[in-house]
Amino acid sequence: MRCELTIDLGAIRTNVTRLAALAGPAAYAAVIKANAYGHGLVPVARALENSVAAFCVYRADEAVALRDAGVATPILVLGPLERDELAAAHDAGAAIALWNRGAFLHDARRLATRSGTPVRVHVKIDTGVTRLGLDAANAADAIAAYLDDEAFAVGGAFTHLAAAEELESAYTLAQLERFSDALAPLAGRLAERGVVRHAAASAAAMLFPNSRLDMIRAGIATYGIWPSRETRHAAAHAIELEPALAWTTDVVVVRDVEAGRPVGYGCTYETTRPSRIGVLPIGYAEGLPRALSGAGEALVGGRRVPFVGRLCMNMSFVDLTDVPDARTGSRVTLVGRDGNERIDANDLAEAAGTIGYEILARLPSEMRRHYVEGGRARSTASIASARSSVPS
Ligand SMILES: *Cc1c(COP(=O)(O)O)cnc(C)c1O
Repeated sequence: MRCELTIDLGAIRTNVTRLAALAGPAAYAAVIKANAYGHGLVPVARALENSVAAFCVYRADEAVALRDAGVATPILVLGPLERDELAAAHDAGAAIALWNRGAFLHDARRLATRSGTPVRVHVKIDTGVTRLGLDAANAADAIAAYLDDEAFAVGGAFTHLAAAEELESAYTLAQLERFSDALAPLAGRLAERGVVRHAAASAAAMLFPNSRLDMIRAGIATYGIWPSRETRHAAAHAIELEPALAWTTDVVVVRDVEAGRPVGYGCTYETTRPSRIGVLPIGYAEGLPRALSGAGEALVGGRRVPFVGRLCMNMSFVDLTDVPDARTGSRVTLVGRDGNERIDANDLAEAAGTIGYEILARLPSEMRRHYVEGGRARSTASIASARSSVPS
């Protein structure tokens, strides 16, 4: 083993069960973009296909990969699409986020005509991220037109919140109000057509009950990672999360060196005592942030050991002096538990000056992933309760 990810699918199911119970009766859409936040797109989808109402992905090819793997759960593609990607998403029976006008609408109408099937859409409304979405001010007219347009099957209307992770209540509540104001003129028709309204990602789903609406779109919490330190402080009494991913490697060699010995590029670190320096076969090419040069820790033999020197492209260094048992082949935990110690993606991220999301999203897709079911199996009944109405 050089470098390996172990993913506990049981932990992922547990997180879904718990957050679904907290957010219910809202349906649960599991966000599995970015290779399921590094946990593996298809294995995660297979683990959740009977427990969630929908999957959210970013790209059309992710939707295609899910269908190729036999996953039949409704899918919503969140990202912008080129013409051929639009066709691929449509052929996969996925819904797309609709916010564009002009040429895109023209392509979508042609596609609907050609295939004899309306293009499934969830209309996106921008209420304050200033990213994708129709302007809230004139969204109602646009949605009304899509509802009347045979080329489209409107399955949902949604928005995205800018600052729920930071617990910016005033901004979040103002966004939710803009969203509900935008939809208010259509309330009757949306209900009649079963249009699913959704706004909350993980943080809002946990902390802003009136953001839950008909469905939540939970990404990071699905994997047992808190969206932010603030959300953890505010919601830890309401829900417990089980981190699902462990990232491990092993020591390639232990170098016994004298005091005053430089380590690594730039000689930025010099031993201050006779030291045992562990060389690890992992660097920034494997997704470990270079900002961990001389910052942050890993676990070896149940102890915390500091990264020292500059992190290289494929290698890095830890100081093993205080772990006398450590030797070539000793297991190193970058994320996960070892004895009584635990490092989660947010701990690693904090040491590197980033967020857990980035650590997870950058885990290379080609890295070996090993799937386990964990020790805390849940009954299928409690998992099934996470399933709610199915948007299309
Ligand atoms: C990524 C994403 C989510 C999930 O966010 P988390 O904070 O990981 O739960 C939800 N909605 C949209 C539009 C997203 O892009």
